[in-house]
Amino acid sequence: MAEFCDKNISETMSALIFNGTLQVEKVHVPRLKNGDVLIKVHKAGICNTDFEIIKGYIPGFNGVLGHEFVGTVVECNVPHMIGKRVAAEINCSCEECGFCKKGLFRHCPNRTVIGIINRDGAFAEYIVVPQRNVFVIPDNIPDSDAIFIEPLAAALEIIDQVKIPDESKILILGDGKLGLLISFVMQCSGYSTTMVGKHREKLSFAKAVGVSVVPLEEFKRGAYDLVIEATGNRNALEMAIENTKPRGIVVLKSTYAGDISFNPSKVVVDEISIIGSRCGRFEVAINFLSNFNNRLPLSQLISKTFPLEQAIEAFEYAQNPEILKTIIEVDRAV
Ligand SMILES: [Zn+2]
Ligand SMILES: [Zn+2]
Repeated sequence: MAEFCDKNISETMSALIFNGTLQVEKVHVPRLKNGDVLIKVHKAGICNTDFEIIKGYIPGFNGVLGHEFVGTVVECNVPHMIGKRVAAEINCSCEECGFCKKGLFRHCPNRTVIGIINRDGAFAEYIVVPQRNVFVIPDNIPDSDAIFIEPLAAALEIIDQVKIPDESKILILGDGKLGLLISFVMQCSGYSTTMVGKHREKLSFAKAVGVSVVPLEEFKRGAYDLVIEATGNRNALEMAIENTKPRGIVVLKSTYAGDISFNPSKVVVDEISIIGSRCGRFEVAINFLSNFNNRLPLSQLISKTFPLEQAIEAFEYAQNPEILKTIIEVDRAV
């Protein structure tokens, strides 16, 4: 098959590598296999999953970190994709197993995941991904908003998984990045949404789009149809259950390092459903951004942007719990 590419691509590139420690190194620009595209990375966001990898909570990853990114296709087997600004779905599936055949490719047991499981990620000048994972970003979504496509897809997955009746009362626990994106999604989708968090400045972003916000110390127990736990705090599941109506639903977005214990009596007596929720569909997130990005304070969620050469400093900065999104900018020309 013919290959179309930008002939100015150099042999080596800078990348943030994790192999037990973090280092910015010179490595070879990755090569395409059939069906892949080579993307020149513009920006990539640091995510809690990156910290879980470097702290060893997600074991076994060696290579280039980073999975929330936007870039331009520079090499590909189909000419119309060259020069397109894109994001890429992070789960790279086998297309052959039972899950893939049912369209459940994000649950493919043979999958690799960009920057997380057995596949190099986006804190690098270039990244290779399967062409089927690539989504073109409409012109009305700037890079600073497009960087949120992956976590927004995870927020929108809740609506894909749970049929939420229109008059539902929704409670979101946690005012971190994911909690805020979930609050934007629920509010823009027309649900009556309340958010509880510990940080008044972070809550103010949800308030700006119309969400009712309550600082944790002022929260009074209630009865909600749907409670979304996005705190990352292992004590919050109990709080989520306590605030759920009989026959209501708890959506669990936090992944906890280690075990939790909770009393399941209320879950049984009140017939509460607990639903785990992870990644979502990129096409849904891109549509959502295209419709609502003017209403959302996304660029204000970016606390600081670092060049790739300062990726180690960016990680140190991003570990501060007061910080929202930290971005690594790779290609400043864009
Ligand atoms: Zn992420
Ligand atoms: Zn599969």
